[in-house]
Amino acid sequence: MERARRAKAALGDRLFILGHHYQRDEVIQFADVTGDSFKLAREAAARPNAEFIVFCGVHFMAESADILTAPEQKVILPDLAAGCSMADMARLAQVEDAWDVLADAGVADVTVPVTYMNSSADIKAFCGKHDGVVCTSSNAKAVLKWALNRGEKVLFFPDQHLGRNTAVLQMGMSLDDCVVYDPHKYNGGLTAEELQAATMILWKGHCSVHGRFTHEAVDEVRARIPGVNVLVHPECQHEVVLKSDLIGSTEFIIKTIQQAEPGSKWAIGTELNLVKRLANDHPDLEITFLEQHVCYCATMNRIDLPHLVWALENLAQGHVVNQITVDPETEHYAKAALQRMLDLPGETARD
Ligand code: SF4
Repeated sequence: MERARRAKAALGDRLFILGHHYQRDEVIQFADVTGDSFKLAREAAARPNAEFIVFCGVHFMAESADILTAPEQKVILPDLAAGCSMADMARLAQVEDAWDVLADAGVADVTVPVTYMNSSADIKAFCGKHDGVVCTSSNAKAVLKWALNRGEKVLFFPDQHLGRNTAVLQMGMSLDDCVVYDPHKYNGGLTAEELQAATMILWKGHCSVHGRFTHEAVDEVRARIPGVNVLVHPECQHEVVLKSDLIGSTEFIIKTIQQAEPGSKWAIGTELNLVKRLANDHPDLEITFLEQHVCYCATMNRIDLPHLVWALENLAQGHVVNQITVDPETEHYAKAALQRMLDLPGETARD
């Protein structure tokens, strides 16, 4: 900790450290600002004087920060192994194949591709090139509405659960309006007729943390803690969300807890580092983790104090390490998809 403090002080205003809510406390204590992935990318863009943006989060977040910051700013990811298993479930070659399948079924022209923020830069660029858009867990409904005004169908990736939960619970669609495209099956495992009949074509991807909460855990916690409020993230499975009291993004979860009645009881289904921090910060509430068998996000946890110290000391000594860069063409199209999201009415006030 002392070495991190020294390196941070030596870098002064040249350095800005971003900390995702799911990061460990040992790392979060050095963050200049905390937030979800989109808020952090915007925070980075609002610091044009910082030469180094050290992103304590995962790879796709650092890419988004690089896209939204000036060319001379350097975005650093303290451990290059900090990826995101959900983002990795939609690779560009697979998405391009899926688009060909949609074209063969005669539906590509009426389909708008929508990618969740939790995707790689080349996937965002794919959406930019095909008149599509990016969404976050806070604005998925507004984005889907926009997309369905422009086309008849949405190809939504990488998280099937966010797509399904938003379509069914917020847009009034039925489960029958949704099909799941499995990139590991021939033609996604779907017939042309199924693609033609669907409104939501959901990519078969999920978050390795949120996808593991079960609806049995909701029953169990309700039996164990009478009067408990169940608060979950929309990346959870549909059955879990259906049984919960409140559903919302990480920022929504934090705000809900900040405004909760003293003495109220909460079971929270999101990443464990955040739930533990909320429990520590709100001793007047009874906060429990929704499911005992779900662990930390393994890749988020790769950013630890030793990696942060290593990155900061190298920067302080003039060695740029673990810089994340997005090539200009990918950046151009990814920015177009991000900009379409930012141009939605009221979007700047979100998150
Ligand atoms: S919590 Fe889920 S979506 Fe977030 S980085 Fe980890 S695997 Fe990816």
